[in-house]
Amino acid sequence: MDTTDAVMDLAKRRGLLWPSFEVYGGAAGFYDYGPLGAAMKKRFEDLWRHFFLQVCAVPAAEVSCPRVTIEEVLKASGHVDEFSDLVVRCGACGSPSRADHLVESAGYDGMADALSAAEIDREVAARKPKCPNCGKVQWSDAAAQNLMFRTEIGPGSGRTGYLRPETAQGIFTDFPHLLRHFRGKLPFAGVQLGRSNRNEISPRQGMIRLREFSMMEAEVFFADTAAPLPAFADVAERTAWFVPNKTGEAVELTFGAAVRDGLVANEPLGYFLALTHRFLVTAGMDVKRLRFRQHLVDEMAHYASDCWDAEFQSERYGWVECVGVADRGCYDLTQHARHSGRDNDFRVAVPLAAPIRVPRTRKEPDMAALGKALKQQAKAAAAAMDAEFHAAAVAAYRQATGDPEADVAFTFANQDGTAPTGDAKPGKATRLAAADAEIDVPAGSYRERDGLWITEVRRIPRVIEPSFGVDRILYALWEHAYERTEKNGEPYTVLHLSPHVAPVQAAVLPLTNDDDVVRTATDIEAGLRRSGILTQFDTSGNIGRRYARQDEVGTPVCITVDPDTLRDGQVTLRDRDTTQQERVTVEALVQALARRFRL
Ligand code: AMP
Repeated sequence: MDTTDAVMDLAKRRGLLWPSFEVYGGAAGFYDYGPLGAAMKKRFEDLWRHFFLQVCAVPAAEVSCPRVTIEEVLKASGHVDEFSDLVVRCGACGSPSRADHLVESAGYDGMADALSAAEIDREVAARKPKCPNCGKVQWSDAAAQNLMFRTEIGPGSGRTGYLRPETAQGIFTDFPHLLRHFRGKLPFAGVQLGRSNRNEISPRQGMIRLREFSMMEAEVFFADTAAPLPAFADVAERTAWFVPNKTGEAVELTFGAAVRDGLVANEPLGYFLALTHRFLVTAGMDVKRLRFRQHLVDEMAHYASDCWDAEFQSERYGWVECVGVADRGCYDLTQHARHSGRDNDFRVAVPLAAPIRVPRTRKEPDMAALGKALKQQAKAAAAAMDAEFHAAAVAAYRQATGDPEADVAFTFANQDGTAPTGDAKPGKATRLAAADAEIDVPAGSYRERDGLWITEVRRIPRVIEPSFGVDRILYALWEHAYERTEKNGEPYTVLHLSPHVAPVQAAVLPLTNDDDVVRTATDIEAGLRRSGILTQFDTSGNIGRRYARQDEVGTPVCITVDPDTLRDGQVTLRDRDTTQQERVTVEALVQALARRFRL
């Protein structure tokens, strides 16, 4: 039995994790959390909330959006067209395999998921990997398979929906509401925890690859990620292991040095890498088996300017990605701004220190007159007037500021910031250059306004996104916490879970079956529960066996109640990791435990 088998066996026996639908034979890629697993997952998610809502230096708020997502959203995000893996099918048994995993298992040394279908076909032909299901070598050509579960919203409506493949899109589409919530001030973060679905092609890796899993994502919006983030100074001296894409070699560095040396693109990204690291280590990940690996250039999404995966080391699976932390630029909001037609709602106004003069008059269409004169061409004419002035404004803005930003909008006003008044002049007949034709507009179909200034620039914010997979990390915590030793010649298991995520915080164990002892222990347990401490009460078997049962599920402390307790009002606290014992009065118990569990 390797550690993965041992951990999964323990998880199943003790109610951390069960294969879903097991009485019907189960289904690959689905697991249920049992009583202890569900308790641990909840604590783990609450710990994440602590870090990303409370500790986080950027103001953050949680939202909760539907899992069923309308097609328009996932079309805009790119998931409908691009969220796919290449699949090859076995000609002998018909079973599908993920093509990149197949060629990697056959010795391909690189990032196979960056290969095209034709390149995959060449690799499959050259390496002749066996079918993991039947052992034959008879593969179809690679074909792209979208990973989303598709459904219909409203029976017979023909309206397509999908189960969301990530929680991020809900945050992006809520951006205008969030911006209002934060009173228009950047930076801020929207976070979401919830289930996501991906119809993985052939999940064969237990909790690493699921068809339904939980995510915790933060979308952190900045006006400009190149600007320094003052809170970065608080984390700059912390260290982590980094694997830069240039060298592929792991180096231990401070976050400060990683940003200073240009390894990590900017301070906001560095800050969220550091917060991610601190959270994972607090949750119990072994810091020596945790690293940040930078995406290779051809692995990175085309819009991302930098992306790092937090990876944990597993005995069986090697280094496994469990968090992606990316600088996504303004890609996501730009997509939703365009596809929703609500461009202005996705922009944030940044006032200019000094207004900039636009050296051109603005043509303001009179839509009634334009419509009468030009019929269907009226809209194109109005757009051309707008474009003409916008181009002049961009040129003036760029000349004054040197800002390289391609996609900017402006607020125009008088030089003193007041709104332009109604003294625009009637326009003369003129010819406009529209998108695909020149349009002659008659006199009086627009007015001309002079003397406009740019007073603020409205830009689409940048996004830093830490994206966590809950289930993978829980598995990592179990594997890293797992220790197999011996006691009195017998195998003995201890799960060294962090007290901040352990599903049971304290077990209350009456040492004897004496009625008074059991009653006192019951009262003590009830008192702890009322104080919010997760407890278990166990009376069965000798005390050594009961300690063993608690050690196996990672309970940090056991509290034994014995006949002396009735006389001196004290109980024994036994520490899981040191097995040391101390006597504590019942009155001081809650405080003593709170001290141990304090963050
Ligand atoms: P991604 O959006 O692909 O970068 O995924 C973000 C995180 O979600 C990953 O780091 C994983 O922890 C988790 N994740 C992605 N796909 C799966 C899956 N099929 N099963 C379990 N966790 C997943």
